[in-house]
Amino acid sequence: MNKKSIKDIQIKDKLVIMRVDFNVPLDKKTGVITDDTRITAALPTIEYILKNNPKKLILMTHLGRPDGQVKEELRLDPVAKRLQDLIKSPVKKLNDCVGSKVKAAIDSSREQVILLENLRFHSEEEENDADFAKELASLADIYVNDAFGTAHRAHASTEGVAHYLPAVSGFLLDKEIEYVGRSLESPEKPLAVILGGSKVSDKIGVIENLLNKADTLVIGGGMAYTFLKSQGISIGNSKLEKDKIDLAKDTLEKAKKKNVKVVLPVDHLIVDRIDEPLKIETTKDASIPDGMIAVDIGPKTIELFKNALRDSKTICWNGPLGIFENDKYAAGTKAIGEFVARLGVKSIIGGGDTASAVAKFGLEKKMTHISTGGGASLEYMEGKVLPGIAALQDK
Ligand code: ADP
Ligand code: MG
Repeated sequence: MNKKSIKDIQIKDKLVIMRVDFNVPLDKKTGVITDDTRITAALPTIEYILKNNPKKLILMTHLGRPDGQVKEELRLDPVAKRLQDLIKSPVKKLNDCVGSKVKAAIDSSREQVILLENLRFHSEEEENDADFAKELASLADIYVNDAFGTAHRAHASTEGVAHYLPAVSGFLLDKEIEYVGRSLESPEKPLAVILGGSKVSDKIGVIENLLNKADTLVIGGGMAYTFLKSQGISIGNSKLEKDKIDLAKDTLEKAKKKNVKVVLPVDHLIVDRIDEPLKIETTKDASIPDGMIAVDIGPKTIELFKNALRDSKTICWNGPLGIFENDKYAAGTKAIGEFVARLGVKSIIGGGDTASAVAKFGLEKKMTHISTGGGASLEYMEGKVLPGIAALQDK
């Protein structure tokens, strides 16, 4: 799937409308932006467009969940202010996103960058209403989508609008298409997939898709115990999804048929209770004594996983291998993270908590790509078509 990018079209003297993801966290009491990562992430695309002399650049985003109503605390004024500081040129913030007043304000604006009001003040946005999408499209000559986090939703600003304008991707979307879309669709082999995190049920779609592509599947984290249980191994009080034991068993059989090598933990770090444990031990094999809880992979497993990953050309990692938020239970996730970083092969990281783990261990710059989509990343890794990407023009 080759989609047209902002680099493939003429911007000069054009009115450009761009969907960005400025859904930043706000302090509940003061309304101050507590983390502007999403704004800074969009700067390369914004700066590229501005350098190419558009007539104007109109930005649009949602913020929070106003559910189709105007909510004063979810207006975009603080976002406009922060953006203005970051790009060091004035940003005109409008009080609505469609209508004749908005059009007139864009026409007469002396500022080159305009930020429309929160799209979700209109219920038509999430309903992907065609008239609303047409109204958004009528504001500009070119549509750019750089909001990966909402690309899995067919909303007016992410999908509908693309039907009425030349529609291309921004740089953030380009990267996701290249590294999550293309690299996982036809990966450079061997492909090893590391899966962890809390639940089998969250990741089963990813497993199903990647079983058709992967050479090796390494399973750790909370979901490993349902897999171990399905093989008749005792797991004590470790995390278990009882209703997924059969599914885990089937998955392992499927993997065998497809010649995918599956690697499960062979030892664990176990505790008597997760908070303030009295006992912390390493098991000598895969089985976990009654009453004990596995919170991380053990040292033998770390070595086993490293050996399984060593010869791969692409590594896709989704889900921490232990309760890494607690430093005492972080060794497995850290060791495997550092190993992947050191291997220097193509490494694609997905999942909010996995991204936090990579950041916690200072490995962000050493990974090839860290997908920032949350739900969108997961669906993309499941091999699903994301409406926000599908709607863009083919190359
Ligand atoms: P991601 O957000 O990267 O997709 P998940 O949300 O699926 O990952 O899972 C992350 C959570 O899994 C983390 O909060 C971590 O503490 C938890 N986890 C990892 N290993 C275990 C374990 N052995 N037992 C319980 N929870 C675990
Ligand atoms: Mg998570």
